[in-house]
Amino acid sequence: MQPQVLLEGKKLSKRFGTHDVLNQLSLTVTAGERVALMGPSGAGKSTLLNCLGGIEIPDQGEVLFAGAPLSALDENGRARLRRGSIGTIFQFFHLLPTLTVAENIELPLQLLRWPKARREAAVQKLLAEVGLKHRAHGKPDELSGGEQQRTAIARALSPEPRLILADEPTGNLDSASGERILDLLQTLSESHGFSLVMVTHQPETTRICDRVLHLLDGTIVHSSDPSVK
Ligand code: ADP
Ligand code: MG
Repeated sequence: MQPQVLLEGKKLSKRFGTHDVLNQLSLTVTAGERVALMGPSGAGKSTLLNCLGGIEIPDQGEVLFAGAPLSALDENGRARLRRGSIGTIFQFFHLLPTLTVAENIELPLQLLRWPKARREAAVQKLLAEVGLKHRAHGKPDELSGGEQQRTAIARALSPEPRLILADEPTGNLDSASGERILDLLQTLSESHGFSLVMVTHQPETTRICDRVLHLLDGTIVHSSDPSVK
């Protein structure tokens, strides 16, 4: 059976000023697949992630999510997609400092108007899955970097998205915490079934990925299998 395609970028081009940041870039991600994006600073990795998640609109080309073109959605439609179907994780966590861990995780579900009992059950399950039950009522500034990233992962996962976009998720962590975050992302992607597109410039982090795409000047120049050394 052919694996089901979840995400497709077709000949994406994006220009800022006179700089072609993405240059006719195409890629396909199947359901449950984990793909790493590597390349030097300025190669266009974050811009690609933003186009795939509907934050940026490519000048040319098309992004298809579950077969539907993002260009058919208006700003509200893209916001709804990001809220429900696509989770995002960043290098610097981007947690809301005035909310507790549990409240940060619950916030997307409030925006989606989930009923209270369903929200609370989802938050409890996620706290257990990321190992933060004992931190539920703590504030982000009381947590280690690894714990903050666990909170951000639980928040990204709370609406049960089919895709997680991660921009250097271990870039601000010491190597031991980074390893634990990678293991967690792998375990969760297997249990929840989401696809992962992860930008990284640490080659060792690609170990959890099925495929590594190497970007240079806005194009994929090479694709490799991280299990082949
Ligand atoms: P990477 O994540 O691979 O380091 P980026 O996608 O962030 O690369 O950026 C690629 C290039 O695009 C850089 O030269 C950057 O300065 C430029 N760029 C990114 N976003 C913008 C923007 N909003 N406006 C102008 N230039 C941008
Ligand atoms: Mg970047």
